[in-house]
Formats: sequence, structure tokens, C-alpha cells
Amino acid sequence: MTESSAEHSPSPVDLLVTGGDVVTMNARREVLSGGTVAIGGDRIVAVGSTKELTAAYPDASALDARDCIVTPGLVNAHEHLTGDPLARSCIPDLLPPGASIFEWSVPLHGAHTGDDDELSALLASAEALHYGVTTLIEAGTVAHPDRVASAMMQAGVRGTIGTWGWDIEGGPFAAPADEVLDRQRKVCDAWPRGGRVEGWITLVGHDLASDALLGGAADLARELDTNMTMHLSPTSSDPEQYLARTGVRPVVHLQRLGVLGEHLLLAHGVWFDDEEVELVLASGTAIAYCPWAYLRLGQGVCKMGRHAEIVERGGRVALGCDASNAGDLADILRTAAVAAGIARDTRIDGMHFGAGTAFELATIQGASAVGMHDRIGSLEPGKLADVVVHDTRNITWTPPGDHALHLVWGTDGRTVRDVIVNGDLVLRDRACTKVDEQALRAEARKASDALFARAGVERKPTWPVVPAE
Ligand SMILES: [Zn+2]
Repeated sequence: MTESSAEHSPSPVDLLVTGGDVVTMNARREVLSGGTVAIGGDRIVAVGSTKELTAAYPDASALDARDCIVTPGLVNAHEHLTGDPLARSCIPDLLPPGASIFEWSVPLHGAHTGDDDELSALLASAEALHYGVTTLIEAGTVAHPDRVASAMMQAGVRGTIGTWGWDIEGGPFAAPADEVLDRQRKVCDAWPRGGRVEGWITLVGHDLASDALLGGAADLARELDTNMTMHLSPTSSDPEQYLARTGVRPVVHLQRLGVLGEHLLLAHGVWFDDEEVELVLASGTAIAYCPWAYLRLGQGVCKMGRHAEIVERGGRVALGCDASNAGDLADILRTAAVAAGIARDTRIDGMHFGAGTAFELATIQGASAVGMHDRIGSLEPGKLADVVVHDTRNITWTPPGDHALHLVWGTDGRTVRDVIVNGDLVLRDRACTKVDEQALRAEARKASDALFARAGVERKPTWPVVPAE
């Protein structure tokens, strides 16, 4: 099977990814054994026979993917690119509710300079590529969105950016609703829809926005034909606060304000009741599901989460990793495994939500949830060329099993060897091609110490660290 988007006037092809097992995630979910992906400019031109495509495009450069699995680029639908990466694995895991946010995250965020934001986003983008994540939805904690976008452009990752949007009293970067909306519009104007990095309307969410801001943000997303994202109900606290303030649960309130719809990606949605699940499904509202964050923070996903049900009833769900102190490792394959594990164990049901479904959430279904399925999420002619090569010449893949089972249960992102985004080879032989990783490591260590000092936050080691002599 060789499919081409231009049967009569072949597009120029610059790069062939040759000889791997190509997990297409097309409508038939076909895996081409020993196949080739032909890339011209930023697009996939053809997916098919290695013999035919190498003969048809003799001048194209070749990336040898024999003994490899070739998949679509993975989607991480909720990741904080600033605030946490320079403080990764520093926020203790034994804290009372709210302490991690108010005693750690808020002061650390507040102390970020523009340079920190850019460095932090570069670090997060480079990490994403190492795990085969080619699309990052920025979770909206950005004081300097242009610096974050520059870092994403530099690393070569695809994604969205948003600026911190809330209108509460006294929060860092909080402002009246009109001013917040004005900032959002500026980000979307500067980084328009369809670019490799595009602006989204991004609110902090929870119960940290007035009705005017919530409604205004949804209107603005519709006006600019872009998407909107915000946090909602990872714990019981949002339902409690909305009930106290509005008399109804959060999703019901959002529905009454006209905020729900296909433009909206709600991060979390763990504590939903029956009515909220129905409203999410009926409105086409998407969910970014970050199971590791809820497990790490003890937020009740195993007891309360309805994500598997939403998926199975045709809802739009993508996977996210959240933050470097809430979910920590930004590895979507590891996330896909735990999402499937939670679905199967909590329902005591081994007949539903297998590896195939989990991998769909990381690729084509995830792309759909973030409104990009016409551009990314599968390896098909006409799609943007976001391609990941997983190296099976290692003990983890020996002997290689079923493609879906092995990708989700049998490995994680650590066997990713090469990554192509928009037709550009941005990770080659496990090294970023556009980022000096050694310099990045040195700079990040220095910036992290300076950040803690400036924020007046002291690291609290789990075990005493004592001098060696
Ligand atoms: Zn978040």
C-alpha cells in the first residue's frame, strides 16, 4: 500500500524515513511492516512501500529506521513550561492541601524573570522531544509568553502558548477582566492560529476567575477562532467553591455562562458528577487528563475519575503530564500506560481500555481533543510531518511484541531515537539538534539556585544531606 497526496504531480520529497514498522494511526489503524514515510517540506507526502518510495525519490535524504517503530508525534495536552521545570522534584510530596501551590509554586512563579521563563520553556521543550512529544499545550502560567514561544521555536517543538489569566485580588500577574482579555488577544495576534507555535486563550481557571472573565474568554476564543484552556476540578475544592459561590457545580455554571464547547480544553475534570459528564459530552468540551499528577498529589482519580467513560462515550480526551512537581516526568507513553491501568483496575474490567485506546489518546484522539486532528496525530499524506522513531535495538524491545502492547505497556519514552517536527529533524540519535544540551544543563542548575534564593523559598530535602567528610 502506498498512499500519496499528489498522484498526478508528485510533491518534492526531501526526507525518507525508511524501513521501520510504521504505526500510522490512520482510520484503519494500519501498521506498515518495513514501510517508509516520505516528507516534503513540512508535510507527509506519502506513506508506503520502501522499495517504491526510495525509487521514486532517489535524491531525498534517508533516515534509516530499520529495526525501529515509527509513530506519529505524541501530544501532551497540559504541561507547565514555566514555574516548575527549574524546580523539578523540589516540591515535597508530604504537604497539606494548598501548601504546594501557595508556599511553593506561587512564590517561585512570582520570582521568574523573562530569562527564567525562556530557559525553563527551552528545558521543557527539549525534554518533550526526548520522549517523542511533538505537540505541547502550554498550561498557561506564563508571564512572558513571547519568551516562552521563542524557546519553543528554538527547540523545534510544536505547541500553544498562553499567558497567565486570572482576575482575583492580589495574585501574581492578576488584573481586571478587561486587561486580562486584552493580554490574551495580544498573544493570539502575535502567534496566530496554524503556526508551529500558536496562541490560545488561557485562564488559570479553578474558581480564580470572575464570570465576566470566564464568559469574555470564551467569546474571545470564538471570535479569534482559537481554543481556550483552563484548570478545573482536579480535587473536590472547585466543586465546593462553585457550589458556595454560584449554587451549582462548576461545569453547570460554565454551561450557563456559555463557556462550554468544542473550543474549550478543560485540564483535569477529575471531580465531575453525572450531570457534568453529560454536559461535557453534549457540548464537545475536551479534557486534558493528567493521571500522574493526581496520583502524585493524592487527588482521588482512582475513586472519582470518569475519563475512561468519557472516552468510551465518544468524548474528546487527551493526555497531559501537568508539571515537573505534579506528574513530573513529561513522558506521554508512561502516562498512556497509567491511564489504561487506572481505567482497567478501578472498574475491575480487563475487557476495555487496552493499549490501543491509550495510544490513540496520545496521538490521533489527543490531536482531536486539542483541535488539531486535521494537521497532526497520524502518519498520512497531507498531514504535517511530526514523526517519532523508537529504537527497538535494545533490551526493552527484545523481542519486539505487538506494536500497541509494546508501545504502551512494554516501554516508555526512553527508547525514542529521532524526532521530526514540521518536517524538521529536531532530535537525532537522542540529542536535540537545535539546543546545546550541555550548556542548557549548566545554565538550568545555576538559574534554579538563583530562583530559589530570589523567591525566598528553601528546599527541604526528604533525607538529610550531609558533607562527605
Ligand atoms: Zn496544570
